[in-house]
Amino acid sequence: MIRSMFEAFKNLFKPVHTVNYPATELVLPKGYRGLIEYDKEACIFCDKCEKVCPPGAILFYQPLEGEKEYRYNPWLCIYCGECVRACPKPQEALWQSETKQQSALKEDGANEGWFVWEAACKQSREDFKAAKIKNKSEESV
Ligand code: SF4
Ligand code: SF4
Repeated sequence: MIRSMFEAFKNLFKPVHTVNYPATELVLPKGYRGLIEYDKEACIFCDKCEKVCPPGAILFYQPLEGEKEYRYNPWLCIYCGECVRACPKPQEALWQSETKQQSALKEDGANEGWFVWEAACKQSREDFKAAKIKNKSEESV
């Protein structure tokens, strides 16, 4: 008991190793694995990032015509970097920034409606596949 009290008293005068976040800004270490950044211009729409993402934080919507639409959910992302490793164009189409998730983002509605978006993406794939099969069968007639 006396020993633990002594330890506690001793620690009162040691330097603090924690940061009073969010009141104090965090200094992130170099190579910090932060939010995912995406550049549509460099993307070849191979879907590899979507396929390897463990929590499903990247989704592509497949319209019947035109390019796929990318969507990223920072609230689902676990910052594992698997998507960047799988991307054939890393650091061009997809990369991991040194930007930390901000608590203010919680108010931006990024997580709102994600399940609706997820269902829409799934449906868009099915519709696209069905349209392709239909076109092929019409061509072969
Ligand atoms: S870093 Fe991991 S969790 Fe986040 S989007 Fe990429 S694969 Fe998904
Ligand atoms: S893996 Fe890279 S190139 Fe492929 S869809 Fe994702 S961002 Fe685009």
